[in-house]
Amino acid sequence: MKKIALLTSGGDAPGMNAAIRAVVRSGIYYGMEVFGIERGYAGLIEGNVIPMEMRSVSNIVQCGGTKLRSARCMEMLTVEGQKKAVDTLEKYGIEGLVVIGGDGSFRGAEVLSRDYGVPTIGIPGTIDNDLAYTDYTLGFDTAVNTCLDIINKLRDTMTSHERVSVVEVMGRRCGDIALYSGIASGAEIIVVPEIAFDMNEIIAKINRSRAHGKHSTLIVVAEGVMGAEEFAKRLQAGTEHDVRPTCIGHVQRGGSPSMSDRMLAAQFGNKAIRLLNDGVGNRVVGIRDNKIIDMDIIEAVSMKKEFNYELYETLQMISM
Ligand code: ATP
Repeated sequence: MKKIALLTSGGDAPGMNAAIRAVVRSGIYYGMEVFGIERGYAGLIEGNVIPMEMRSVSNIVQCGGTKLRSARCMEMLTVEGQKKAVDTLEKYGIEGLVVIGGDGSFRGAEVLSRDYGVPTIGIPGTIDNDLAYTDYTLGFDTAVNTCLDIINKLRDTMTSHERVSVVEVMGRRCGDIALYSGIASGAEIIVVPEIAFDMNEIIAKINRSRAHGKHSTLIVVAEGVMGAEEFAKRLQAGTEHDVRPTCIGHVQRGGSPSMSDRMLAAQFGNKAIRLLNDGVGNRVVGIRDNKIIDMDIIEAVSMKKEFNYELYETLQMISM
């Protein structure tokens, strides 16, 4: 394979730039001509193609966001849009495509592979960690660390005022950001979409922890359950303690990627190019049990993510 392209699609995630760098430089290492597609599938449809050189990716390994920019593109869901995307690839003689994004982006890549015969490789880039086939997605570690920074600051004020703090984190329908940031910040309670909650039990737990001498309470709520404002309102109706909501919001998506995300980016990007260089397409790369793996893209997007109940129980045992 001599000409390949890459794009970033869906929600941006820290580590996408480091992955772009790894893809471009690994491609050049194998003697490939590498093109960048700006603004995800929208740019592919509109023909926003730029050549990527060794120096195009200098000084970006530490940057959040994505240099190629990202977009959500409804036109890619239509046959007309997909044909335009393929036309762009043909116009530039592009033989393989690397897609960095979440499950929606992978579905777009799968369509290009299945219906139009374009070899594609997916790199999991999303803070949500909602892809079943890989233990971690690019950006998740950094997003959780951002939550921890903010929760640390919040703890100062909630402890001083003996409050109950309800912190809303992202993750869409996946509770992993809440689970990991809850455990790592020493939260008393986490509320995730995968497990039904009972407000009376939460109030009872707050009362128990206050009886044990705690002066404040930290509750981490995943956005897939409900917003912090609404949760705090419902909780306040059942307790005399002062309840305050905080929504961390989009700062979770930004910032310099952590060491873990940069390492994943380097390995995912390199693996994607090794596969294309071997003439292999229609795969996604990931990490399982600390090993970089690849698997069939259709199989990967149809797997159902399993919640880590053991970690959830761990929080219950150590959060008194
Ligand atoms: P994140 O998890 O961060 O939101 P994502 O990749 O899941 O990232 P989506 O908005 O679901 O984000 O998908 C990104 C883009 O992928 C869509 O805007 C669309 O262009 C394309 N896409 C999604 N689903 C399909 C599909 N079934 N067929 C073709 N293209 C699709």
